[in-house]
Amino acid sequence: MRLIDGKAIAQEIKEEVRDRIASEGIKAALAVILVGNDPASQVYVGNKKKACEFCGIRSISHELPAETTEEEVTELIRKLNNDPEVSGILCQLPLPEGINEKRVIETIAPEKDVDGFTVRSAGALFAGEEGFLPCTPAGIIELLKRSGVELEGKNCVVMGRSNIVGKPMAQLLLRENATVTVTHSRTKNIREITSRADILVVAVGKPMMVDAGYIREGAVVIDVGIHRLNPDENGGRKLCGDVDFESVKEKAGLITPVPGGVGPMTIAMLMANTLKAAAASCDSNRRKFRNALSEMRRSLS
Ligand code: NAP
Repeated sequence: MRLIDGKAIAQEIKEEVRDRIASEGIKAALAVILVGNDPASQVYVGNKKKACEFCGIRSISHELPAETTEEEVTELIRKLNNDPEVSGILCQLPLPEGINEKRVIETIAPEKDVDGFTVRSAGALFAGEEGFLPCTPAGIIELLKRSGVELEGKNCVVMGRSNIVGKPMAQLLLRENATVTVTHSRTKNIREITSRADILVVAVGKPMMVDAGYIREGAVVIDVGIHRLNPDENGGRKLCGDVDFESVKEKAGLITPVPGGVGPMTIAMLMANTLKAAAASCDSNRRKFRNALSEMRRSLS
């Protein structure tokens, strides 16, 4: 068994983002909205800010109290949509009860949707058009490619069909010419299906559910899950995934650990998406400037 080092690959991507921002003098800024005081969200937002700092992306923090209304959040997003200094907007989920997450996310302008969560971004992915890819599945494709895993023609099984992981994951694997099966909580004989996979992506949200009985000898296993454990009861381990690592590690050919697998890639891809948004906005400003200049020249001649 070989481990896929998500931490090292994520670092490589962040360095590429940092170097491009520095060498091309791109001004990138990520607006991060956090509503309420969910401790896990605070940690995620803190990590995203640190990554921005490393890459040379300005992070603009909007930390709002739990009593904030949906209208106040959407109003803030509209302002950020119109702010030329802001390249990307991220609204940390989950939002407090009483705020409709779908309506809030749909307020984000498509050109600033660096999380790739809007229906417009999902539609672009489905139709094979240009758009922002959701960070976790896009990060998994990068992990696989940069670990030398061939995807074309491979039998891939995605466990889970959520809008943010399972469904976009399946689309991205299809784009890479893999043969894709998606399983979910109503799938019958699930082990029979998963144990035929060359590549198994597990995103079920159930701690350590997938053991050796689910996988084929030598399979590539990507564990998307992340769960906090009580360290007193788990030999000092603070986190685990959806895969029972100890059970699977001898059977799998390649496997992502938790922590240090998919998690760091999600943040690295957020940085890459923010750079993409900033670069597109620079290009569009240059185009506008050139058009204005030629318009001026025409009116003077
Ligand atoms: P989710 O919205 O809860 O979706 C879970 C999916 O798994 C659903 O499609 C569900 O099927 C399916 N499922 C549940 N129990 C199952 C079972 N016993 N057998 C087969 N399928 C089953 O979760 P998510 O947002 O996709 O996230 C999945 C995991 O990834 C979570 O642990 C989450 O914390 C983690 N995550 C990590 C990152 C990261 O950056 N590392 C990012 C996002 C998510 P139904 O549709 O039939 O209910």
